[in-house]
Amino acid sequence: MKMERKAQSHNQRGLRPKSATHMQAGNGDPRVALRSSVRPKPNPYEVQFGDAQHGCTLAGEIVREKHSRRMPLKDYKNSVSLGYPPGPNVGRFERKELIAEGGYGSVYKGVDLKTKQTVALKYMNSAEDDSLSQATLREVGLLRAAGSHDNIVRILCWYFLPKTTVMVLEYLETDLSQFIKKHRAENRVLPNYLIKSIMKDILVGTEHLHGRGIAHRDMKPRNILIDTNNGWRAKIADFGLSKFMTFPVLPRAENFGTRWYRAPEVLLACKITTMRVDMWSIGTIFAEIKERHALFPGKDHDEQVDMIFATLGVPTADSWPDMYQKIKPIIQSLRHYSTNRLREKVPSMNEEELGILQNLFQYQSARRWTAGEVLKLEYFSAATTSDAGDFEMI
Ligand code: ADP
Repeated sequence: MKMERKAQSHNQRGLRPKSATHMQAGNGDPRVALRSSVRPKPNPYEVQFGDAQHGCTLAGEIVREKHSRRMPLKDYKNSVSLGYPPGPNVGRFERKELIAEGGYGSVYKGVDLKTKQTVALKYMNSAEDDSLSQATLREVGLLRAAGSHDNIVRILCWYFLPKTTVMVLEYLETDLSQFIKKHRAENRVLPNYLIKSIMKDILVGTEHLHGRGIAHRDMKPRNILIDTNNGWRAKIADFGLSKFMTFPVLPRAENFGTRWYRAPEVLLACKITTMRVDMWSIGTIFAEIKERHALFPGKDHDEQVDMIFATLGVPTADSWPDMYQKIKPIIQSLRHYSTNRLREKVPSMNEEELGILQNLFQYQSARRWTAGEVLKLEYFSAATTSDAGDFEMI
């Protein structure tokens, strides 16, 4: 999985940002988002890094302006004076222990030396020539465009440094993947009220993103962070593969997302993809949180497709009209997968939950339920977010 993301990021790196005049508003480019997106509410960090001379308030914008003048970042790194490298501090944030190493860099725990608040410092490697990678701009830009929301991880500020970008994020204690793993290792079932609360948080966050035209495109348990101090609130994180997708978009050489959670239209390179790729991934997360193991853990692309067809039955002209002609040669050899065996794969789910899953696993993406539609169901409307406030992880 990491290899695939590395390969994607490799392609994305080395692209020097064009000057502002080369870009058209509304083309989904995250750099446009940096300029034109809704500005989040003022926060105390913005004032700290303000730069009156450039008329901007955030460190990130100061550096971007310098890029547009085509000056190498190293020429003015002293003027930015952020203390990295070589010291472990970034601005007023002290770097503490490593939390995780991801596809794009590393995440550290940190402390705001002024307020003593714990934060997460996400270091993202940039291109060799100091230009900002598309992935970096995408993540910072879209996270800002997402705006402030209880179910989206909050970005406090960021620094564009030579060869590295550091995003300062609110710190959350665990992620859903670790949480599920812990329960599986201890052979403990997650209580249903907690599952419902976490799923509802994910759906509310997704509805917010989709309402703003943002597809996350890498929904998986590792990218769902959990705030255990505030009533077990789940928050969507890692916008490295996200994209503005107001209209169905033509994918450009993109087999995005982590394979196990990838929608079939992405796996099979369907001509157009929509925000409902996220709804498929949410279905796989729902199954995983109930069963405590991944539903479609394919070792490679072919096994991934095979697992989906073996579980849901091969697509037909009726169930997947958009893709049937294209994939006909593939499914000729898979005729024996004619029945839907999802029930056997999710024994912990009741009929209501299975029904939700079936609707999230529609091959034809337009028939897949949206986050708003799922939230209207009695199953979720009865649950309040953070219903799980009194849950204690042993
Ligand atoms: P990558 O894009 O490199 O995969 P992620 O943003 O997914 O990086 O982060 C990798 C891991 O780091 C997450 O799975 C989580 O465990 C941890 N992490 C990320 N952001 C935070 C945060 N704000 N608070 C605490 N842990 C975090």
